[in-house]
Amino acid sequence: MMEEIIALLRKSETLLVTSHANPDGDAIGALLAMGLALKGLNKRVTLYNESPIPAVYRFLPSVDAVCGDIPAGQRFDAAVVLDCGDMTRIGERFTLLKEIPRVVNIDHHLTNTGFGHYRIIDPGACASTEIVFRLLKRMEIPIDSDIATSIYTGILTDTGSFRFANTNAAAFDICAEMVERGVIPHEVARHVYGTYSLGRIKLLNMALDSLEISVNGKLSLMTLTRNMFEETGTHLEDVDGLINYAKRIEDVRVAALIVETRNGRSGNARGDVRRFHVSLRSDGSVDVAAIAAAYGGGGHAAAAGFGIEASLADLKLRIIDWANGL
Ligand code: 5GP
Ligand code: MN
Repeated sequence: MMEEIIALLRKSETLLVTSHANPDGDAIGALLAMGLALKGLNKRVTLYNESPIPAVYRFLPSVDAVCGDIPAGQRFDAAVVLDCGDMTRIGERFTLLKEIPRVVNIDHHLTNTGFGHYRIIDPGACASTEIVFRLLKRMEIPIDSDIATSIYTGILTDTGSFRFANTNAAAFDICAEMVERGVIPHEVARHVYGTYSLGRIKLLNMALDSLEISVNGKLSLMTLTRNMFEETGTHLEDVDGLINYAKRIEDVRVAALIVETRNGRSGNARGDVRRFHVSLRSDGSVDVAAIAAAYGGGGHAAAAGFGIEASLADLKLRIIDWANGL
């Protein structure tokens, strides 16, 4: 499949490159690395992400080339979709893919639905940026320091700084090569982990304050509501990494973080029903991708998530009930 994808990319003139909404370091790193590589081949490339790029990733090279909208009527020979387990992860505009004659799906999620005409899905890859790296190598595209910084950041963040279960030999090999190509690790770390807004620290305080533990001690649960975002002047991007505090607690096997993503609907019978995103992390003994998939989401065995409309009380009960059966 890789050879077919390479032939497709070489013959396409206009390309849409995109990754999932509310992007993490891997989704942005893969998007930028792929975009820079294709631009180097003199392709007309549109880099699209539905959400604003989180502040901590705004240092990345050519990040301003990422647009949050696609001009109406624009035609593409092909699309490259990165780090998306299913098409809807792109966001509201995912239906646009139906109008693009060739769609390439590059991803490392276990639960990938296999959408698109061409795909490289490798759950053994530590990050989508690992797969992008392999593709660029096979295409003999020179990896300059800008591309290297994007790839490095993707792998660094998706492996949780080489701490998570997806950390493989390739993570170290590729990152070492990226450093040889000009990446300065302490600078990347300073941007990604070293500088938080005051609001983000206050949000962390609220997240810790919301902590609940199931009776059997196997689940830790944190909750962030719209009010907390408003009070601290923070956004969804500021949630990144908070779940790791819940995951660290002794004896906890599964950590859950409930985040209210939109204001509740009012004035109907389900007035207390609100929209949430639930992040799940496990210590490896529980497959959280399976539970996320049961709710229409997905991810990896040790890190997964799903979106749901429910009342907060009902959602918490469901999660705690499930955990008490562990
Ligand atoms: P997070 O909890 O950080 O949002 O996501 C953890 C992992 O689960 C990531 O690999 C992410 O791509 C995946 N994930 C999170 N939410 C969803 C979802 O709603 N659908 C799918 N398919 N995957 C998700
Ligand atoms: Mn991602």
